[in-house]
Amino acid sequence: MIQTLYNVNEYDQALIDAAVEKMMKELDVLSDLRPGMKVVIKPNLIMAKPTSVPATTHPAVIRGVATWLRNNGITDITLAESSGGPYMAEYMKNIYKVCGVSALADVLKLNDDFTSVPVHTTDGFKNHSFNIITPITTADYIINICKLKTHSMTGLSAGMKNLFGVIPGLEKPQLHYLWPNIEDFSNMILEIDQTVKPNLTVIDAIDAMEGNGPTGGTSHPLKMILGSKDMYTQDYFAAGLMKLDPNSIVMVRQAVEKGLAHPDQIELRGDPIPEGLTQFKIPDSINLDFSSFMPGPLGKLFAKICAKLLKSFPKVDSDKCVGCGKCAESCPQQIIKIKNKKAKFPRRGCISCFCCQEMCPVKAISVKKAL
Ligand code: SF4
Ligand code: SF4
Repeated sequence: MIQTLYNVNEYDQALIDAAVEKMMKELDVLSDLRPGMKVVIKPNLIMAKPTSVPATTHPAVIRGVATWLRNNGITDITLAESSGGPYMAEYMKNIYKVCGVSALADVLKLNDDFTSVPVHTTDGFKNHSFNIITPITTADYIINICKLKTHSMTGLSAGMKNLFGVIPGLEKPQLHYLWPNIEDFSNMILEIDQTVKPNLTVIDAIDAMEGNGPTGGTSHPLKMILGSKDMYTQDYFAAGLMKLDPNSIVMVRQAVEKGLAHPDQIELRGDPIPEGLTQFKIPDSINLDFSSFMPGPLGKLFAKICAKLLKSFPKVDSDKCVGCGKCAESCPQQIIKIKNKKAKFPRRGCISCFCCQEMCPVKAISVKKAL
């Protein structure tokens, strides 16, 4: 499996274009493309955040890829994403504008078809079908361009998690509701990934996010662009660059167990891994694994008790809360109430998915441990 890594110090278009050119050559992407192909770029535009916040794919990276495609004869290029809110024209128009992708209209088409279609999955999957946004289902070639981040629920947001954004808007909380457990939720993400089957995955890690990602964390620049046709193995590799244990991220561990990721077959091309990389701060909601503190069944019991005592719940800072209701809209359990323009969070029924924290525009939601 060929994994590319190119050092790019900043969001400078010329530097990015040069890195994309080398990446495409190394991965021999040209041999996959034919004239007239419909290419869809799936970025991460999780919510309306400016490019100064490392929550969304930077438009300069998308421009670099789209320009390369155009220079190589591909002109039917569409950017398609379903953000965290409703999947509707007006809502998405604002996301395009705030995230800076409206300015890409000279190199690609911004998706304006907000329909979705049910797509059947492979026999044996727990999810028999997914409703997927239409442009993804009609694409000849899919380029997944994600942002590298830590994530309050899944631990990591990179290539695999980015494809949750092919599920239309408010259907995402329904899937959280259906699969509240992290093992099941991660399996569901992998089933979406295997249904969408992106042809190429590019990771924007020039600036990345650590801490309370995917939207409330802080900057941790890695100053690099990664690219691979093998999204699963690349996520394993990226977790290593963040100095996280890939096996501690359920989605990555499952990808290895299912034979989707092959970390022993990574062939690095491009620049060497820079020295002095430091560990990304993990989200406040992620618990430590205590099972190694004691051997055998006692260790398991001890870990279970610790997990219960340290279970994380959202906590709202009423001074910061502006009563917008975005948390309530995204809560799969529908337990958040807005009273007197302030959000109220009961613990009962909470599945600790942190969709609320993800969607809060003013970072009013923090994490509180049960103990
Ligand atoms: S309150 Fe927040 S963390 Fe709890 S279920 Fe709702 S969205 Fe998830
Ligand atoms: S999303 Fe944030 S600001 Fe809006 S109501 Fe919820 S806690 Fe308050």
